[in-house]
Amino acid sequence: MVRGAGRIPSPCCGKSMTVVGTRNRKSKKRSGESCIYNIRRLECGHCHRIHHELPDFLVPYKRYESECIEEVLTNRTNHDIPADESTLFRWFKWFHSFIDYWIGCLISIMHRTKQENVPLSFSSGNSETALHRIGRLVGDAPRWLERIVRPIVNINLWLQTRSAFLSERS
Ligand SMILES: [Zn+2]
Repeated sequence: MVRGAGRIPSPCCGKSMTVVGTRNRKSKKRSGESCIYNIRRLECGHCHRIHHELPDFLVPYKRYESECIEEVLTNRTNHDIPADESTLFRWFKWFHSFIDYWIGCLISIMHRTKQENVPLSFSSGNSETALHRIGRLVGDAPRWLERIVRPIVNINLWLQTRSAFLSERS
């Protein structure tokens, strides 16, 4: 069973949510072991949209836990994650196609919350790797992927695919 630490406002309207059921969510651990988590379904008190509680260690729509994906992205050639080559390839493609979008979301969140250390310029030139750019925003200490996912999910800006404007530069 997974339960969020506290009540969060609904990602859609920022209103309170009520529990309307649960759902099982499968996930793979670093050891390769599969787990099933029981996750709460929450309903927005304002627009009645349904949201699923997301534990910190999961990434929406991803089968592996966040730390597995992070490990692979950080140590491309030297990791111990038991995933096949096509999965690894998809993670890199996913990361590189979303990175600019995530950075945009994070900067917008920083502006909204009036943080003072918002970077002024953030070109997506080749001089900085994607990891460096993300590191400047959320730090490069372990669990950086969680620090990207959580705030973006919480304001309902997480996207599953970028069908319309996926750039082919990975
Ligand atoms: Zn709502």
